Amino acid sequence: MKIAPEVAALVPEMKAWRHHIHAHPETAFEETATSAFVADKLRSFGLEVHTGLAKTGVVGSLRSGRGDAVEAFAIGLRADLDALHIQEKSGATHASRIPGKMHACGHDGHTAMLLGAAAALARRKNFDGTAYFIFQPAEENEGGGRVMVEEGLFERFPMRAVYGMHNWPQKPFGTFAMRAGPLMGAFDIFEIVATGKGAHAAMAYTGKDPMLFVAHAISALQTIVARNLHPLDAGVVSITQVHGGDTWNVIPQEIVLRGTVRTFEPHVQELIEQRMRAIVAGTAAMFEMTATVRYERRYPATVNDETETKHAIAAATAVVGAANVDTDPTPNMGSEDFAFMLQAKPGCYVWLGAGRGADTPNVHNPHYDFNDDALAIGASYWVTLAEQQLAVRAGQKAA
Ligand SMILES: [Zn+2]
Ligand SMILES: [Zn+2]
Repeated sequence: MKIAPEVAALVPEMKAWRHHIHAHPETAFEETATSAFVADKLRSFGLEVHTGLAKTGVVGSLRSGRGDAVEAFAIGLRADLDALHIQEKSGATHASRIPGKMHACGHDGHTAMLLGAAAALARRKNFDGTAYFIFQPAEENEGGGRVMVEEGLFERFPMRAVYGMHNWPQKPFGTFAMRAGPLMGAFDIFEIVATGKGAHAAMAYTGKDPMLFVAHAISALQTIVARNLHPLDAGVVSITQVHGGDTWNVIPQEIVLRGTVRTFEPHVQELIEQRMRAIVAGTAAMFEMTATVRYERRYPATVNDETETKHAIAAATAVVGAANVDTDPTPNMGSEDFAFMLQAKPGCYVWLGAGRGADTPNVHNPHYDFNDDALAIGASYWVTLAEQQLAVRAGQKAA
């Protein structure tokens, strides 16, 4: 393990920052105290700080050497600020002080690691160009990354590439994993409303029973993946809610189904939506009722650029050694709004192994707590990546 001395020296501070953020979790677009904390720290390291992008987003800019702020000599490193609506049960001394809110995805750790990297890079000043430190709000559900891109992140801060990192408790501590191409899935949601004709349950022949629609539609929708998808293409159709009916003896007028679709490839996403609409229309017709489908594309797939993935592999290898870098992990159908940044800029999103054995609670679990031992590794990865990608150019003394 190769940890820069400047990073090693910052570990106690990174831990303290992480614990402070963890104890004071804030959710989507309400990360005002976290955002102010980050902005203060960045200023104290001597960075130029820009606030207010996507409401609570923060961008710190650090120039070194020639300090060119041109696209060719600038990169972005991104962390997320938000917590989740979960009641914490970790029992940690730094556990959430806000009822019902918790840093259960480790974004507290991501923020602390990126702050540590900013501090270390500012001390080392061993690169030529501009490093942007992007702290985005609302990664969970609300697409803060998309809002930052829409509000001009890459126009205001021109950069060649953008990089993201997420702690991964299900992967061994001290490892990295990344691959070129899709790493995480596209996240779509759907709502199906079937409208029949309500009736007395004892006189079902006088109505049109939407329960029948539900019984057939759920089975039929599962045939999309089983029967319509190429066996080597990946897709998930999950129906997660059924709402309808109020009492014993009434056939309801209407039933609502909701769920999520996960895919890696746009053509699979198209196919699933199209088959879903056809199955719903056909099932409704079969039972002489109407049904509507609202299909919403939330997050695209997280797709890593081939060249930038090589760069990420080089940085991770320099920190933890080639034996601890998995360059062909199985992609995951979870989703990540860093995908919006990767649609706008080439880049690479990596997983930082943070497991503590078989019983490590996974992210989004009320017992989860970010693994503090990973702070130095994550911050070292950022420092190494920035110094490799903005390497001091010949004939130029780093300042
Ligand atoms: Zn999460
Ligand atoms: Zn997360």
